[in-house]
Amino acid sequence: MKNKNNYDYLLSDLTKLNGVGKKTMEILKKKKVNNIFDLLWRLPKSYTDRTFVTKICDLQIGKVQTIRIVPLKYQFPRVRHLPNRVNCIDQSGKIDCIFFNSYEGYVRKILPLNEEVTINGKVNSYKGCYQITNPTYVSQDSSLVETVDNKYSLTEGITEKTYNKIIKQILQNLPILNEWHEKDVLKKFDNESWNNSIIKLHDPTNIENYKANFYKRLAYDEILASFLVNSEIRKKIKKIKKISKKFTKKAHNEIINKLNFDLTNDQEKTLNEINIDLNSKCKMFRLLQGDVGSGKTIVSLISALSVINSGFQVALMAPTEILARQHFILAKKLFPKNISIELLSSKSENIEKKKIIKELKSNKINMVFSTHAIFQKKIIFANLGYIIIDEQHKFGVRQRKLLSDKGGDNCDVLLMSATPIPRTLTMSVYGDMDVSIIKEKPSNRKEVKTYSKLENKIDDVIKFVKKEIKEGNQVFWVCPLIEESKKLDHQSSVKKYKFLNKIFPNDVALIHGKVANDEKEEILKKFLDKEYSILVSTTIIEVGIDFPNANVIIIENANKFGLSQLHQLRGRVGRGIKQASCILMFKSNLSANAKKRINILKNSNDGFEISEEDMKLRGFGDLLGFKQSGLKNFRLADPIQNEDLFLMAEKQIRKIEMENINIDKYKALLKLYDQADIINDMV
Ligand code: ADP
Ligand code: MG
Repeated sequence: MKNKNNYDYLLSDLTKLNGVGKKTMEILKKKKVNNIFDLLWRLPKSYTDRTFVTKICDLQIGKVQTIRIVPLKYQFPRVRHLPNRVNCIDQSGKIDCIFFNSYEGYVRKILPLNEEVTINGKVNSYKGCYQITNPTYVSQDSSLVETVDNKYSLTEGITEKTYNKIIKQILQNLPILNEWHEKDVLKKFDNESWNNSIIKLHDPTNIENYKANFYKRLAYDEILASFLVNSEIRKKIKKIKKISKKFTKKAHNEIINKLNFDLTNDQEKTLNEINIDLNSKCKMFRLLQGDVGSGKTIVSLISALSVINSGFQVALMAPTEILARQHFILAKKLFPKNISIELLSSKSENIEKKKIIKELKSNKINMVFSTHAIFQKKIIFANLGYIIIDEQHKFGVRQRKLLSDKGGDNCDVLLMSATPIPRTLTMSVYGDMDVSIIKEKPSNRKEVKTYSKLENKIDDVIKFVKKEIKEGNQVFWVCPLIEESKKLDHQSSVKKYKFLNKIFPNDVALIHGKVANDEKEEILKKFLDKEYSILVSTTIIEVGIDFPNANVIIIENANKFGLSQLHQLRGRVGRGIKQASCILMFKSNLSANAKKRINILKNSNDGFEISEEDMKLRGFGDLLGFKQSGLKNFRLADPIQNEDLFLMAEKQIRKIEMENINIDKYKALLKLYDQADIINDMV
């Protein structure tokens, strides 16, 4: 029994492999294969067939997607530096595959003419045509597989033979690891050990066996590792002792009495959860999650006032100046006059800024509203007790950890996010935090009415907009990213702006990616002040800003957006008591998939439900940019197919937490699955 319990082999770099040349190693490095363990997850090709396949007509620009296409024509330019191009189709549309720095032979091999091929890559658009640059070849018709060797996804420069040789070598040297799962857990997977599972994973007779125990076991390993690391971080933060804050009903009532509405049950419930944490002797690290417009701001301000009354300072950080200002103005209205609050803006005069900084240090200011500028080194708080961070779902675990450290031990942390996520993902995305959820919307809200319209019916839409403007309402007009290039994107919104400005002279404003931040905020402010009735924009208008007067949102080319994103855009209207509408515009007749998506939106106003559906339709990796937060795509586990495993892992984590089970036996699991660093960082 060689290499017993020695996972070092798996973590060592590729030089440990015999017969692997420098060139192969470099190619693999470029593909983010850094050690032997990484290679285990480059699966035989049939596994990848399960990858979500999209029709060309449903492609979304800028996203990595898998399509099944037929190559029709090669274009190999004789001019150097020009890319090779292959025109391809599926039953719903056309796409070009572009290859830079590649040989004709390679292109011919992975895209043989008139044969169906599955490829994967980031989709962009050039001169109105879809294209994928340097796609990854996923598979060919499975009848072509004759040999016992596995077919792996081809990477230019490495042959199938080399791949198989490498994998065989690794499997032969696979260390036998001590089992980390408990007996009853393991029994659920028919006692498949990690080693056996890996060997079976690469056995050509086993491929596509997603329901097999070996496959499930490996998926479960992955889920548990991800949950476990978050749970450890949470435990560590909870061990930090702090001076508890006193919560009195007084602060609560002082604010409530100034409002012309009552808090919803969920607002009261979450406020109570927050107050219990503030009161306790342990540091709070909590997420307040609630759909757009569910009223998170009030909850955070009431809790902030409690903290101020307990003698601490509070900092609220918003993603943009305009949002920070909105929160500041609201607090000015609601807080008692003796509470000193300030807005620290990059636009304030220097003298003003200096004064604020000085007064934060001398404890003259009770609460400050700002953007991330609040975290500059020169800003020192006399007695910071609470940080509130608005609209930051894109922070990853590491960034959140840094934040929690920043304020020091006595500082409680509340993050707010309007991005509902599917239940199965909560533990991997937010498992390091306690989570409070507002599900219920204020009762005075009317649901936004959602319509779909073909683009050639724009006259009807204009008529509708005219009527709304006459009634004093304002309109968002969203042009999606049509092209990958910012320049073209901006041109398309400029065009729409010009078009609308002819119909509604001097009543249309425009924002796109090229407008500088300062100017953008100025335009948004003017729109808030009702200087314009229509705001044409790309999707850059932030979540969170309260536009009480905007009642209509028109979203062009709506099938370019995911469901959750459409739901968030829709949430920008309908904050007041008037009926609001959302018009989704489409270029051509809708595909069955697009129809399905619209119906989901028409029938539901519940962000959580919509995020579940979105995940089912699109896979989870792309849900609202969570990729940017460092949330890794799982290698095997799939939140849709393996929901039971996610729930099982959640149960196991609760058990570990409740019974205070030592996690030493999971050390190899955490090390291998690249999750241990962050825990060690924390000691
Ligand atoms: P979000 O959760 O998206 O941050 P906000 O806090 O901006 O939502 O609240 C949206 C709007 O709803 C605000 O105008 C706010 O005054 C209002 N609001 C908040 N709570 C209630 C409530 N319980 N009843 C009625 N309106 C409310
Ligand atoms: Mg908000």
